[in-house]
Amino acid sequence: MNISFDLDGTLIPKEEEFETEKRSRIAKFLGIEKIRKGARELIIDLQKHNHNIHIYTTSFRNKIKIRITLQYYGIRIGRIITQTENQKKLKIQCISSSKYPPVFNFDLHIDDSKGVGIESERYNFKAIIIDPTDENWIENVKNKMKNIA
Ligand SMILES: [Mg+2]
Repeated sequence: MNISFDLDGTLIPKEEEFETEKRSRIAKFLGIEKIRKGARELIIDLQKHNHNIHIYTTSFRNKIKIRITLQYYGIRIGRIITQTENQKKLKIQCISSSKYPPVFNFDLHIDDSKGVGIESERYNFKAIIIDPTDENWIENVKNKMKNIA
């Protein structure tokens, strides 16, 4: 499956809503962002199960910076869709959803936004919504994936 992850509130904290992986002072200096504890473990596990992992965010971050941040933590991902591309594509297709993963060939999207959860029902795409404060988020993603598959 092609699985996309949201960034803010899902893999990268907005404030201090979840624990994060260790980051060196140099990394911090270089602008490497914090990442959710267990993100690497989960993504690598999914990749071992032959899933392709991508990033789908409505932020305007620089794609290279996103890739460098993830690589710092040992995470390699496929495609990155940021808001610039998202807005363009959804506009062309006349989709009024804030995110619509199928248009980028993402089979399943993982996000913290309840709004995205509502959209997934309205526009009929597969999504798993994880609360930012959920400490068992890895297990919950895996369990919810079993129900989807
Ligand atoms: Mg989010």
